[in-house]
Amino acid sequence: MALIVQKYGGTSVGSAERIHKVADRVIHARNQGHDVVVVVSAMSGETNRLVALAKAVADPPKAREFDVLLATGEQVTIGLLAIALEAKGCPARSYTGAQVHILTDSAFNKARILEIDDQRMRSDLQAGRVVVVAGFQGVDAEGSITTLGRGGSDTTAVALAAALKADECQIFTDVDGVYTTDPRIVPQARRLDKVTFEEMLELASLGAKVLQIRSVEFAGKYNVPLRVLSSFDDTYTNTGTLITAEDESTMEQALISGIAFNRDEAKLTLLGVPDQPGIARDILGPVADANIEVDMIIQNIGADGTTDFTFTVHRNDYAKTLEILQTVKAQLKAREISGDNKIVKVSLVGVGMRSHAGIASTMFRALAAESINIKMISTSEIKISVVVDEKYLELAVRALHTAFDLDQVATAA
Ligand code: ADP
Ligand code: ASP
Ligand code: MG
Repeated sequence: MALIVQKYGGTSVGSAERIHKVADRVIHARNQGHDVVVVVSAMSGETNRLVALAKAVADPPKAREFDVLLATGEQVTIGLLAIALEAKGCPARSYTGAQVHILTDSAFNKARILEIDDQRMRSDLQAGRVVVVAGFQGVDAEGSITTLGRGGSDTTAVALAAALKADECQIFTDVDGVYTTDPRIVPQARRLDKVTFEEMLELASLGAKVLQIRSVEFAGKYNVPLRVLSSFDDTYTNTGTLITAEDESTMEQALISGIAFNRDEAKLTLLGVPDQPGIARDILGPVADANIEVDMIIQNIGADGTTDFTFTVHRNDYAKTLEILQTVKAQLKAREISGDNKIVKVSLVGVGMRSHAGIASTMFRALAAESINIKMISTSEIKISVVVDEKYLELAVRALHTAFDLDQVATAA
């Protein structure tokens, strides 16, 4: 007998019929002798609807009150799932984040979990009940409702699994595992049987939205065995993708594990700034002061006492960053600002990169063969990212997928 935390995402609980399917799967796990804690997201589209509703009233909405509204989506689903379980004769209790004391900090809209009190859940499990917990939400020390950022139900599930020392945390979604890239963009993408926490963290950070970044951080930190599976597999036999610590003997020995992409990027360049100490601070200081996160940064080699400085930000912050740069330009007597918010970042990820040279040149050759111009490059130990025009996103991902032999091997009919 094991203790399992199962999480179901928006599409998996998107209708009354889907709620019944989830209830059936939970009962199946119970019939196999497991204790089950279930975390659910809001029904698909619901959180987007609530965001739009709040913004129609005030933009930006007051952060604390915005969270009160956003958290309602998950409260609907816990109620529905517990009703379905009880109707099928399976004892169940639903709880909001606050009711199971998911204590967070007070950073509304992006709160971090600090502590979970597992007592109530444990006594329910002991009494033979399924525990159904609302994902994406918690409560701060003042008793205010908080939410954990978009996709945050993944993090609720992993945090509960860590607190309960669960045997496995299963993330049920609308694809049957983690793929070499988003299978909606590249149909030939291949499902990975295993991927390391480190690779999954890079993939998530670089744009693969299959798991929230924080959930992977949490799983790595507390060594929670994490599995991504499909809730649409009615045979219950699918084993999905296991995310686990690196293990030389069993990990797939691919050079590249996956390709991630991020459409939310924008790039800004300040041309002709004085090439002198403190210039990066003078440019990026005011950007940071405005709470704008900077991703990639490139400074050219100086010539004639001046240099060019380029960086990327989230596309939503593009207009605000341009405004800030106008002031900086005047202060530094820079020559010109140029900007582009129609760019994307495409990244190769793989622990195999550590021990192999030549990955970058294969990448650049594959992109050149498709006449895709690279605008920026950044590398780290297990990833290489390039910035290209938005219009080349799909072509670039597909070309790299083929160049690194990630395409599915066709099986004979
Ligand atoms: P949920 O609502 O269940 O949390 P999400 O939409 O957050 O589901 O995440 C699942 C989606 O992630 C898939 O439908 C898929 O399009 C996308 N995705 C992006 N990259 C990958 C990848 N490498 N492997 C699998 N899915 C991916
Ligand atoms: N419902 C929230 C969202 O749409 C949390 C989640 O689904 O994980 O972002
Ligand atoms: Mg999600």
